[in-house]
Amino acid sequence: MNWSFDNTFARDMEGFYTSWQGAEVPQPAVLRLNEELARELGLDPEQLDSAEGAAALAGSHAPEGADPLAMVYAGHQFGGFSAQLGDGRALLLGEIVDSRGQRRDLHLKGSGRTPYSRGGDGKAVLGPVLREYLFGEAMHALGIPTTRALAAVTTGEAIVRDGKESGAVLARVAASHLRVGTFQYFAAQGESEKVRQLADYSIARHHPELAGQDDRYLGLFRAVRDAQAALVAQWLLVGFVHGVMNTDNMTISGETIDYGPCAFIDRYDPKAVFSSIDHQGRYAYGNQPMIAQWNLARLAETLIPLVDPDNHEAAIEVLGAELDVYREAYREHWLAGMRTKLGLASAQESDIDLVQGLLAVMGGGQGADYTRFFRALAELVRGDAESVRALFDEPGAFDAWLPAYQARLAQEDRTPGEMAESMDRANPLYIPRNHLVEEALDAARGGDMAPFDRLLEVLSDPFNEQPDAERYALGAPPDFGKHVTYCGT
Ligand code: AMP
Ligand code: MG
Ligand code: MG
Repeated sequence: MNWSFDNTFARDMEGFYTSWQGAEVPQPAVLRLNEELARELGLDPEQLDSAEGAAALAGSHAPEGADPLAMVYAGHQFGGFSAQLGDGRALLLGEIVDSRGQRRDLHLKGSGRTPYSRGGDGKAVLGPVLREYLFGEAMHALGIPTTRALAAVTTGEAIVRDGKESGAVLARVAASHLRVGTFQYFAAQGESEKVRQLADYSIARHHPELAGQDDRYLGLFRAVRDAQAALVAQWLLVGFVHGVMNTDNMTISGETIDYGPCAFIDRYDPKAVFSSIDHQGRYAYGNQPMIAQWNLARLAETLIPLVDPDNHEAAIEVLGAELDVYREAYREHWLAGMRTKLGLASAQESDIDLVQGLLAVMGGGQGADYTRFFRALAELVRGDAESVRALFDEPGAFDAWLPAYQARLAQEDRTPGEMAESMDRANPLYIPRNHLVEEALDAARGGDMAPFDRLLEVLSDPFNEQPDAERYALGAPPDFGKHVTYCGT
């Protein structure tokens, strides 16, 4: 099988990784394969779905042209700095230039111990692997930059976690695996030449238009800042909580990475936290924009010697000013997205008040489901006000907000039908509901993949109403209780 690897990181970035092989596993088997993505990568789905393909995707047998390696990185985890993390259970298999000319990393998670495993076993298990598969595909279908699953492979191993679980490997594809934490690793060691090499590599890979410019490192910082501002705005607009926004889980490419304890909110609640380990609510839904800026500040620190090697004070000032732009960049992305969710094509100064007023209603505890609300609001624009009112336990506050919205809609020069259409293209009907994800993973653990397949199918087309999919558009039943997620292990 021809994989057509072209491994720039292995070739050009010695010192940033350890070459490594995946562990032998008893019985690698492809459980699920993303055929569309395989074709995009120029890989033959049929050949991937073979014994040879399974061994390659499990990491136990490197395919021709691969240069498997474990990347080193550091990171702030819940605010505390770890000077060395790295791929403790993952390998970068190599890079493939896809059918649109984009270079993509092919990366394996769960492929065994590496020099960066610390106390860990280097393994991954079925539930979290399928969870990352589902969330990545759901985010992709929502139009949000993300790593994607190419395959979920079972290894035939029994792994001890809470009890015994099936070993699995996730083969995932990313624009790159460069992280804020990658920069931090070398900066913390005082290796500014290495940071420079990494910055130049990042530029070549993600922003080649900056190469050769005098202020390219500042340009790189601006680009990462803007990509993250746009990304986190999209998260908030769909109600996504990443759950573990450590600096090692923040990409330079601006893709969402490392779906562990993530979840979507039900009711609008800035304080919403799902992760079992986020006791302080550091990574709560509404904190994410601020945390992204905090993480960007950590990236900026690593770039100080690059921006002005002779005058760090001056570099700090310039980088600080660029960092300050984040807040406004984020706000613009978010407000533009909110306008779209509300069916507004034009922009008015006072729109922010309309949006804040709505969020006050939504966060007021009257109980509207965030995702369902915006779909029902489109129905209101079409002339049926009851479906949205019915979402509230007590619609009084919503009724009080509504006249301002209707007055604003009257200033648009589109028909109600056109506005409602545009709302339905921006507001998903189907998101990975916590109770449905758990249901699918429980069934998969018991050997029944049908609920997973069905959920994946529905989530792959989130904006269009699908036949026999009513239950996928609903919130959790009351007896589901408060949802708690665990770090993917
Ligand atoms: P994560 O929380 O998945 O972003 O991982 C944080 C760090 O812990 C990374 O360096 C991982 O490679 C490492 N890690 C997580 N789980 C394991 C494991 N089972 N074995 C070895 N390293 C792990
Ligand atoms: Mg990436
Ligand atoms: Mg991670």
